[in-house]
Amino acid sequence: MPAVPDSPTRASSAISGFERTFADALAPLTVPWRGADAPEPTLLAVNPQLAESLGLDMDTLRSDDGLALLSGAATPVDTTPVATAYSGHQFGGYAPLLGDGRALLLGELLDAAGHRVDLQLKGSGPTPFSRGGDGFAVVGPMLREYLVSEAMFALGIPTTRSLSVVATGRGVHRTEVERGAVLARVAASHLRVGTFELAARNPELLQPLADYAIARHFPELVELPENGNDNRYIGFFEAVLDRQAALVAKWMLVGFVHGVMNTDNTTISGETIDYGPCAFIDAFDPSAVFSSIDHGGRYAFGNQPTVLKWNLARFAETQLTLVSDQPRAAIDAVTEVLTTFDARYNRYFDEGFRAKVGLLGASDEHELIDDLLTLMNAHRSDWTGTFRALAAELRGESTPLATLIPADDRNSWLKRWRGALDRLGHDHQRTADRMDRINPLYIPRNHHLDAALAAAADADLAPFEQLLAAVTQPFDQLDERDHYAMPAPESFTASFQTFCGT
Ligand code: AMP
Ligand code: MG
Repeated sequence: MPAVPDSPTRASSAISGFERTFADALAPLTVPWRGADAPEPTLLAVNPQLAESLGLDMDTLRSDDGLALLSGAATPVDTTPVATAYSGHQFGGYAPLLGDGRALLLGELLDAAGHRVDLQLKGSGPTPFSRGGDGFAVVGPMLREYLVSEAMFALGIPTTRSLSVVATGRGVHRTEVERGAVLARVAASHLRVGTFELAARNPELLQPLADYAIARHFPELVELPENGNDNRYIGFFEAVLDRQAALVAKWMLVGFVHGVMNTDNTTISGETIDYGPCAFIDAFDPSAVFSSIDHGGRYAFGNQPTVLKWNLARFAETQLTLVSDQPRAAIDAVTEVLTTFDARYNRYFDEGFRAKVGLLGASDEHELIDDLLTLMNAHRSDWTGTFRALAAELRGESTPLATLIPADDRNSWLKRWRGALDRLGHDHQRTADRMDRINPLYIPRNHHLDAALAAAADADLAPFEQLLAAVTQPFDQLDERDHYAMPAPESFTASFQTFCGT
């Protein structure tokens, strides 16, 4: 285990008022730590809206003191950052100790709405949990997380958010030497299924951790009794399961492939976390896999709900001793909740999908929806483009859809769809407008994101900033952004790969 870095500690008052309820309540799951030096910090991206919601001053964040803090080179004046410990199942195999190998929890802040959030640095140097890794991160992947997480937020999907990316001026070895960078991200918390997998091995930690998570994320459950039927911990398991089911349904509705749904990347808060190898699909294909290491397709697009249920079963196992001191009763109780997963997930997905095709209030249009998915799959239609094209169709503009689904298949489905809308009494124009408010036009398409990150690596941030502007206003059509709505050429898609932990 490396010692706490003994370089002279620089303190920064750029952000003050940090709290540390997690480190205080669960000290054995944390190690006081600090970041590595940043020889030449340069601000690459900063998020004024998020800063404002946290009551942070932009000029201060941009100052030397601000950059020292956001790069990890300085620690906050009024608190000691920590690296946190957790375990996790990675690709199905149990890793007993993972932890923040290159992250540093600076502390907690209260946002404008009074919600407690974590401010965490990623890429700030080695920690006792770095295992074989160097503890650092590089510009491309940190800008990638920044842009995709902010796109997800703009799409209304629960997610960690990104406050800043600072290039450190340190050279970091990957296949070549690349520019080091640190991302500052904000999360409702960094508690994961993996945090519970670690705590479950230590009877003294498990209940305090569960009570902490309940108070922080599900305060409505605090009043429930500790024991007996319908106790607090069964309620907790059910609440996490429900939030995660809702989350992954949202991923599926926008065509998001997380890419590395290990249990240490499944949050208790129900937020999306860790944007390493993620990607959005262009053509609809349930078997789509982008991650270079996902050879078996475990985390393929269409497999995400199944994998989530598997992760929730691992979470259930950690809760057994809290749920009941009778092992059989505990297993029965969590199993009963786990068996509700499919119905909950399907309800979230169906509701979301009906809204995407304007069928609000419909309850018996499963065949119509299934047939659309079958057509989209058969013709490898562009996922994002199809729903905007359907709205255009309702306005009498048939050209966009014509390029996505051939006429024979298209026309009979469209006739049935219009019939269903008429039966529900939905005005076609208003339905089209409603659809355009929930079906994005601009998502971070892989070819555009790749090109923007390549330019950023060469110090040209303009393509990144333009793409960021489009994907953070994903529903608003602007002529100069039309190219962002176009699917990638097949030649690009055929060879596109994403990478973990870079
Ligand atoms: P991930 O699946 O990307 O969330 O990461 C899994 C684990 O690997 C976590 O414990 C990370 O902190 C750790 N990790 C990833 N990259 C590095 C790195 N460059 N140095 C040290 N640890 C890392
Ligand atoms: Mg992770």
